[in-house]
Amino acid sequence: MLNAKVAELLNTQVNKEFYSAYLYLDFANYYETKGLDGFANWYKIQAQEERDHAMLFYQYLQNNNAKVTLEAIDKPDKVFSCNMGPLKAGLEHEEYVTSLINNIYAAAYEVKDFRTMQFLDWFIKEQGEEETNANELITKMEMFGSDPKSLYMLNSELKARVYSAPSLVL
Ligand code: MG
Repeated sequence: MLNAKVAELLNTQVNKEFYSAYLYLDFANYYETKGLDGFANWYKIQAQEERDHAMLFYQYLQNNNAKVTLEAIDKPDKVFSCNMGPLKAGLEHEEYVTSLINNIYAAAYEVKDFRTMQFLDWFIKEQGEEETNANELITKMEMFGSDPKSLYMLNSELKARVYSAPSLVL
């Protein structure tokens, strides 16, 4: 049996990860309207990864005989005035998600729930990678975003990203 607080936090995380997918689909939507199909591609794949994250939390709860409650997903409501906007918002969002994962880890640690801690280890590492990726995109945009040719090349680089399934299998 999972501790009630740990189970509740894990259930909330299902929703948070689906919201992340929704948010990144909205970022892709923004870039499509700007003609930056590579940036749009990058965020569409990011959205797929977020759905995978949601399903991992969902499956982990089911595997541990815990009740899953699917809540309403918030509407992404950010409005951007420049191409840097979603990148900065993306980093801020990933830092927030890191804090959520850390909170669940702390709750599991408190009740010596080593199984959940081990499950979350993958996400701790994943969040480190997400923040690195988000920071790198901002740095590249700072360097190349104002020159059309360089922006074209950066867009082409991001267009090459392909989806791969998560390395964590439950
Ligand atoms: Mg995620």
